[in-house]
Amino acid sequence: MHISGKKIWCCLFGAWVRERQGRIIQPSKQILTPSKKSRTPCCGKKVKKAKNILTGYVNFMRGKKHATTDEKIKLCQECEENTWMTKAEHAKWLLKHGIKVLENFDQLEKLPRLPKHKKSKKRKTLYCRLCKCHVEAKITDEDERCLLKKW
Ligand code: SF4
Repeated sequence: MHISGKKIWCCLFGAWVRERQGRIIQPSKQILTPSKKSRTPCCGKKVKKAKNILTGYVNFMRGKKHATTDEKIKLCQECEENTWMTKAEHAKWLLKHGIKVLENFDQLEKLPRLPKHKKSKKRKTLYCRLCKCHVEAKITDEDERCLLKKW
C-alpha cells in the first residue's frame, strides 16, 4: 500500500488538532490547569511549525522557488545529515514514532535520526535526518532554518 507524504502529514496534523481540541474541551485535565507548568499551552509554536510545513508542501507542489532555494538544496545534498528515502519509508517512520512525533511536533530533532540511505532508483526524495523534513519542501519556506545553521 502506498501512503503519500502529503497524506501522512495531513493525518498527523488532523490527529494533533483533534488531540488539542480534546484537551481544551477538558481543561481540568491538561492545558488550562495553572499548577501544571509543564502542560503550559505550546500551541503557538506547534501551529507555526504546522503552518511552515504546510506552506513548504504547497510551495513545493506549486514549484515555487526563492533566490536561495538552489543554494540551500545544494548544501542539503552535500550534508552528512541528509538521507534519501521513499515517501512510504518516511511515512512508515513517522507512523512508527507517531505519539512522539505528535508530542514533539515543533522539535522533531528530539527524536532519533532518520535512517541513512544513499540515493537510488527507488529512494529519490531527500530528507533531513535531524529535522525529519522533506528538504525540497522545507527550503521553500523562508521562515525555516537548518538546525546546523548551514543556511
Ligand atoms: S537542513 Fe541542514 S542539517 Fe538538514 S540536511 Fe539540510 S543542511 Fe543538513
